[in-house]
Amino acid sequence: MKRWLLPEGGQFYKANLHLHTTVSDGRYTPEETKQKYRERGYSILAFTDHEVFVPHNDLSDGDFLALNAHEIAIDEFPGGGRYQRTYHLNFYAKSRETTLSPVFSESRVDCPSSIALITDEMRRYDARAEYSVASVNDLIRIGNENGFFVCYNHPVWSLQNYPDYIGLEGLWGIEVFNQSCVVEDLPDTTIPFDDLLKAGKDVFPICSDDSHWDPDYFGGWTMIRAASLDYDAVIAALLAGDFYSSTGPEIRELSIEDGTLTVRCGDAALVRIVTDWRSYKVANAAVPEREGEDFVARFDASGLAGKYRAATEPGYQNAYFRVEVKGHDGKSAYSRAFRVAEFPELLG
Ligand SMILES: [Zn+2]
Ligand SMILES: [Zn+2]
Repeated sequence: MKRWLLPEGGQFYKANLHLHTTVSDGRYTPEETKQKYRERGYSILAFTDHEVFVPHNDLSDGDFLALNAHEIAIDEFPGGGRYQRTYHLNFYAKSRETTLSPVFSESRVDCPSSIALITDEMRRYDARAEYSVASVNDLIRIGNENGFFVCYNHPVWSLQNYPDYIGLEGLWGIEVFNQSCVVEDLPDTTIPFDDLLKAGKDVFPICSDDSHWDPDYFGGWTMIRAASLDYDAVIAALLAGDFYSSTGPEIRELSIEDGTLTVRCGDAALVRIVTDWRSYKVANAAVPEREGEDFVARFDASGLAGKYRAATEPGYQNAYFRVEVKGHDGKSAYSRAFRVAEFPELLG
């Protein structure tokens, strides 16, 4: 039986899940931001202005969906400093009806345009946090318990390392690419993503723009496979991991049938399978071959799982694989990770 790793039904919607507008420190208004992205074929934007949570349901129409969110910063030394580490987390509202965020704290708001938008209702909350894994985990938990899900943003720009992130709990996603950080020559990598996966934490890889001003636009996006462009349907797809993220290449199908993993994509230089098995991605890389409109690479999925079939090696219980598609220009697309344990038929 064919197992679809991206849903067979629905359609892909192009999304940028991280951006800033004149609500905080972005150059363009929410309306102008929508216009810029609509002209480039995007259907979904998550408005993640700093600290203040301002819903934008008024921007949604038949061809466009606004997701409501905000970005929280927990600085190592409140008040600033170019050497300080910082946690930046996007909190996304699961319901379009949500009007307030429980992780708001007026003490963190420093942008004049945001200060002007603070209301007494927002002030009902005062979710302060200090720079520690435990304190940040409290914020994530409060968000999760109150109808939000959380993405851990741009660890490289934030000057963060393994001890800063490996203990984080309850994350939904992690940025593997952030265009604004590329502009600042602090590009993210997949290393923290794989570190969390190896620790047994199921997080999804996100490519975003984090757009503030012109050089930040159109570098990284997410292709969401959803039943419709409805708030609930798109959130359900995001929570299920029914998407891939990209800086260029296109993934059209991921499936497993009769022990074969099929990756159907657009024109690409290389498709590779990344696992926690050392050297596996070297052994499992292929140049996709043209089949009609698509380019296709196939892998022995039984072999992928076979390493674990009689595994006694430490680390077996968190075994996973994920797909990367490399473009001729070096740009990449990333699937989510799949735990080998999700495929008992391959384990024999
Ligand atoms: Zn940030
Ligand atoms: Zn940001």
